Amino acid sequence: HGGHLEVIVGPMFSGKSEELIRRVTRAVIARQRVVVFKPAIDDRYHATHVASHSGRIVEALAVRSTEDVRAYLRGERPLLSEAAASPDVVGFDEAQFFDADLVPLALELASSGARVVLAGLDLDFRGEPFGLMPDLLARAESVEKLTAVCVVCGAPATRTQRLIGGQPARYDDPVVLVGAHESYEARCRVHHEVRRDQA
Ligand code: ADP
Repeated sequence: HGGHLEVIVGPMFSGKSEELIRRVTRAVIARQRVVVFKPAIDDRYHATHVASHSGRIVEALAVRSTEDVRAYLRGERPLLSEAAASPDVVGFDEAQFFDADLVPLALELASSGARVVLAGLDLDFRGEPFGLMPDLLARAESVEKLTAVCVVCGAPATRTQRLIGGQPARYDDPVVLVGAHESYEARCRVHHEVRRDQA
């Protein structure tokens, strides 16, 4: 049967990694060849695993770029798992952190018959579409939008609240922070706050 793109989106804590792990685990049980990639930028818990906030993990290859992924798939580097160079299922976690070449790669994989499962943030902390995700969402055969629980009111949360020192982040803050003392919460549209004042 032919390949296709499945995209899993939602805010932080909505269970995107859990859902990716669930789908990938079922493919492994069915003895399909599975390989999962994640950006090296996300080093929470373990560099070679996809970890969900609830603690479940599957083996994944940490890569610095889409070209890294291509090198693995060309067989130029050893794969951690026994998945061959022609995988049945290719997973990507934190897809929003990949460069734009992920879109054509995902389409090539689907055209060659692979099931491509991509999990990522649809919106950044400001509530703006995140990088290449709109492109992936438009091209996917299947899209699942997950919600978390708003920490303020308990409604379904569709947004990721960034806090810096307990205060809502500013609109002009960089989308990707390195080494800042920030924290994140799941919030609904009503309780999602972005400061518009200048730094
Ligand atoms: P994502 O990949 O979307 O960030 P994960 O799969 O890593 O999500 O984690 C989802 C888990 O986060 C939930 O199963 C739950 O245990 C935990 N969690 C923490 N805060 C919240 C919240 N506000 N709403 C829902 N789940 C939460």
